Amino acid sequence: MPEIKSEVDRIRPKDLHDKAVALRKACGERFFGDYHERFVDTRCPACGKDGETVFFKYGFTHKKCAACATLYCSPRPTEEMLIEYYSTSKATCFWTDLLVSTGCERKVLQYGPRAEQLVEILKQDTDFNPARAVDLGAGSGAFALALSRTGFFDKVMAVDFSDKCCDACEKIGLETRHGSVDVLSDVQVNFISMNDMVEHLFDPMQFLSQCYDVLDPNGYISIACPNGEGFDFQVMQEKTVNITPPEHLNYFNSDSLALLLESVGFEMVSICTPGILDVQIVARAFRDGLIDLKDNLWLRERIIQDDAEFLAPFQKFLQQNKWSSHMVAIAKKSQ
Ligand SMILES: [Zn+2]
Repeated sequence: MPEIKSEVDRIRPKDLHDKAVALRKACGERFFGDYHERFVDTRCPACGKDGETVFFKYGFTHKKCAACATLYCSPRPTEEMLIEYYSTSKATCFWTDLLVSTGCERKVLQYGPRAEQLVEILKQDTDFNPARAVDLGAGSGAFALALSRTGFFDKVMAVDFSDKCCDACEKIGLETRHGSVDVLSDVQVNFISMNDMVEHLFDPMQFLSQCYDVLDPNGYISIACPNGEGFDFQVMQEKTVNITPPEHLNYFNSDSLALLLESVGFEMVSICTPGILDVQIVARAFRDGLIDLKDNLWLRERIIQDDAEFLAPFQKFLQQNKWSSHMVAIAKKSQ
């Protein structure tokens, strides 16, 4: 599957990937050692029920909800501890610097089709007013710029709590605000996007309630996040690179993310898993010796043989059946 292999290496180049993984482990373990005595117990972030411990990573306890299968960290650091981590840890500073130092044009092109699909959905709703879109946790501003280039929205705003990211967004001409959802109370908001953000939050339900409150009637929200029931989670468990405490704390699945959004008051429009990297994430981990797949000789053989006739259609199968670990949800603010 040459086209997919080049995609994973392009999106996540190996040397940067290895450095990021090593930094996350070192920083995660140090943070756990320094702060874990003050962590707080939480219940399932989607449905509020209790979970069972399934594994540990960098010291952090990971639980799976018995009711909705959401995977989550508990006990977990408080919001204050997380702010401290994001502003000081080498792991997060490394990624922020990388994000803002590499031009975002390529990423804007990657996001283009998703932004266009989203606009097609919004256009079908004649009650939707495309006055302003807001991208929360905008990073380099690539997704906000892709939204802007659709020409559908009158205004597109980027919001991020990192000074460096805000500078990057301003540089590419975006209306930018420093902070989070709490800086939106004085503007009209018709659409909110959040990419790779909900998995980081201490209290996703509270955050999504705030998003609901700032949205105009008939407003929409789009969330892209990991699917905790995705292929690499299933095969690799705690060894998948997607599990990175304390950065990631919540791993919803297609059912539990819908449950969470509905409990806040949203009405689900669509939920899908359009990821393209799952098979290659597992193949790379196998080639690097991180996993041996001895419990899954059938999959091991397919990967050893680099069986293109199987692997590319298999990735499609994962996408189509909500087994990819990259998930996108769209929901509407109900009346
Ligand atoms: Zn649950």
